[in-house]
Amino acid sequence: MASEWKKAREVLHILKGKGFDSYIVGGAVRDLLLDRKLADIDIVTTATPYEVSTCFLKTYRMNNLHETVIVKYRGEHYEVTTIRGKKLVEDVKYRDLTINSLAMDYEGKLIDFVGGQNDLVHNVLRSIEPYDRMTEDPLRMLRVFRFVSELGFDVDHELMSVITAQHDLLKKVAVERVMKEWIKLLKGKHRNQALRMIKTTLLFKSIPGLMLTEHALEQLAQFRSLTHSSDTLCLTAFCLCLDKVDEPFLRNLALSNEQSKKIRERLTYYEKRNHQRWGWLDLYYASIQVARDVETLRLLGNKESESIDQLQVMWEALPIRHKSELAITGADVIHSLEKPQGPWVKEALTLAEQLVVTGQYRNNKEDLLNTLLERRDEL
Ligand code: ATP
Ligand code: MG
Repeated sequence: MASEWKKAREVLHILKGKGFDSYIVGGAVRDLLLDRKLADIDIVTTATPYEVSTCFLKTYRMNNLHETVIVKYRGEHYEVTTIRGKKLVEDVKYRDLTINSLAMDYEGKLIDFVGGQNDLVHNVLRSIEPYDRMTEDPLRMLRVFRFVSELGFDVDHELMSVITAQHDLLKKVAVERVMKEWIKLLKGKHRNQALRMIKTTLLFKSIPGLMLTEHALEQLAQFRSLTHSSDTLCLTAFCLCLDKVDEPFLRNLALSNEQSKKIRERLTYYEKRNHQRWGWLDLYYASIQVARDVETLRLLGNKESESIDQLQVMWEALPIRHKSELAITGADVIHSLEKPQGPWVKEALTLAEQLVVTGQYRNNKEDLLNTLLERRDEL
C-alpha cells in the first residue's frame, strides 16, 4: 500500500484514539480497488470540525466547506469531513454512485453498505435511488459520464433512464463545476463511449456553457485520445469542434483569464496554420509552446503536422526569442533619432524586431540604429 495510505490510516488511528470513528471514503477507496493512481484521500469522521482541529497540529478551514477541515499530516493533506447524519451508513447512502460509496476503517477493513464492490467487479455505475440522487445534485449526471470516460464502465439501466428523463436539470448547475468534470471527461480513455451516452440520453443539450451539438460530439469523437494532454490542450481541442467560438462563449466558460488567453492564442495560430506553415515571425510571436501545441492539436485531429523536433530546431535558430533580447532599447531609439517620445518608439522597436527575426539585419545596435535613422521620416 502506498505511503499516502499508511499515513491516512495513521490519521484514522489518531482520531480513533480520541474516541472518534473515522473512515477513508469515496474515490480513494474505489481507486485502490481498481489499482488506479489516486487523486486525493477524503476522510469522514464522527468528530466535529472543532474536535478534528484539536487532534492535529496543523489544520485549516475552508470558507466554502463548513463541515470540512484540512488536516496536514506528515506532509500530506487530508480533507476531513464530519459525517452527515452521525452514522457512516447515512453518509454513504447520499453519495452519487455505489462505487464512490465504499469506505475503509483504521484497520484497513472495507465497508460496503450499498454493493459498491460488486458493481466495481461488474464494471457498472449505479446509484442507490437514482432519481433522488440525480435530482438533488444534477451535476452527478455529468459525473456519471465522466466516470464512464475514465473507467469504461456500463451505466445501470435505471440510472440511464433517470438521466434521459431529467437531463434538463443540469442546466441550472454552475459552469465552474461543469468544467471540472468536462475536462476530466475529455481526458478519459473511454471518452467516445461517454460521448455516445451523452448523445443517447440527450444530456448534451443541457450542459451549461458548452453549446454542444450532435455535430460537435461527432467532431470530438474524431480526435485521438487526449489522455496525456494538458487542460489547455483539451479545451482548445474541444473549441475546435464547435461551429463558433467567440469572446462571449469563452467568457461564459468561467475559466481563469490566463486559461482563456492560452486557448485564444492557440485557436488563432491554429487557424493561421490552416493556411500556411510556420514562418519565422509567427513562430517568434507565438513562442515555441504555442507552436508545439498547435502542431500537437493537428496531430491529434489527424491533420498533417510539422515535426515538433523540426519546430524546435527552427525556434533555436531564431536570432532572438524575446523582445528583451533586441540589441536596442526605446531610450537608444529616442536618443539616436532625436525625436520626442511618442507612439513611434514602439513602432520603431517592432520594426527592428521584425528585421532581426526575419534575418534581414543582424541583432547589432549600430546596424539597427542606422537602419532606423534611414527610415526616420517614415516613423
Ligand atoms: P477523482 O478521482 O477525480 O478525485 P472522486 O470520485 O474522488 O474522483 P471527487 O470529486 O474528488 O471525486 O469527490 C470525492 C467523493 O465525494 C466521491 O467519490 C463521491 O463519493 C463524493 N462526491 C463528490 N462530488 C459529489 C457529488 N456531486 N454528489 C455526490 N457525491 C459526490
Ligand atoms: Mg477525489
